[in-house]
Amino acid sequence: MHRHAICWLNGELLPAAQATLSVLDHGLLYGDGIFEGIRFYNRHAFRLDAHLDRLELSARAIALQIPYGRDALIEAITRTIAAFEEPDGYLRLVVTRGVGPMGLDPRGCGPATLFIVADQLSLTSRSVGEEGARLIIAATRRLPPNGLDPRIESLNYLNHILARIEANHAGVDEAVLLNGEGRVAEGTAENLFVVRGDTLLTPPTIEGALDGITRQCIIELALEAGIPVSECPLAPYDLYTADECFLTGTAAELIPVRDIGGRPMTQCPGQIFLSLQDRFAELVERETGPIAAEPRANH
Ligand code: PMP
Repeated sequence: MHRHAICWLNGELLPAAQATLSVLDHGLLYGDGIFEGIRFYNRHAFRLDAHLDRLELSARAIALQIPYGRDALIEAITRTIAAFEEPDGYLRLVVTRGVGPMGLDPRGCGPATLFIVADQLSLTSRSVGEEGARLIIAATRRLPPNGLDPRIESLNYLNHILARIEANHAGVDEAVLLNGEGRVAEGTAENLFVVRGDTLLTPPTIEGALDGITRQCIIELALEAGIPVSECPLAPYDLYTADECFLTGTAAELIPVRDIGGRPMTQCPGQIFLSLQDRFAELVERETGPIAAEPRANH
């Protein structure tokens, strides 16, 4: 955690290290809750409406009442960003079922707990960002959509963490999770794209991918640039034989992939990746104002 991380909790802003929750909160006891990771640039939350839409859908899907309306949420987010020491950063907005008795039945819980942390978050070193990440395909599979719908951004990340532990043990940067049928789902906290010929390919959410907001931006930008995009099932073969591969996510932004399971991509960073990276930077600037002259913080 960054020294100056702050937290909005119950209408109050305080240093994140001093923000505490009950040990009886079901978000902690059972992972019963949802979240959004949101970047802000130039003190503007990027694609805030899309994040709040997804949060509200996640809440409905798990029958959780968010204790604030949209305007109050926006106000809390705006206050948190205004109080953070730097103009660019990362917000983690979490809503849990709240405090309740032991036992997973949510009926005795509530009201929901809501907090927002503002911090710095950089998933990769500069060298990985420039030279590309090395990936493995994890043995741990993504939870099946008929167990937990991948469109719900829930607090249940344990199998993603197990996949990341596999990557750590293998000495690489990140892991790809396959779904129960052995097709590609996503990274541990990123969506995945490959380029084959002139076409951008990514698995549809039903294959086990979160409906990522960065993913959506990349699809929009590719289509604007005349790059054909296909949301189609992908096998490990499609990763091993790709011309280019890259990861997208709010925390990750865009990360080129150098090799997967020891098979190098034809290009890294590839032409299509580089052109989409430029277009993404322009999109961020268009929607949030000019990016501060100082280099983006990398703590
Ligand atoms: N997949 C998973 C499992 C994630 O946790 C994230 C990050 N929230 C993503 C994909 C990327 O989504 P987004 O671009 O909305 O951050």
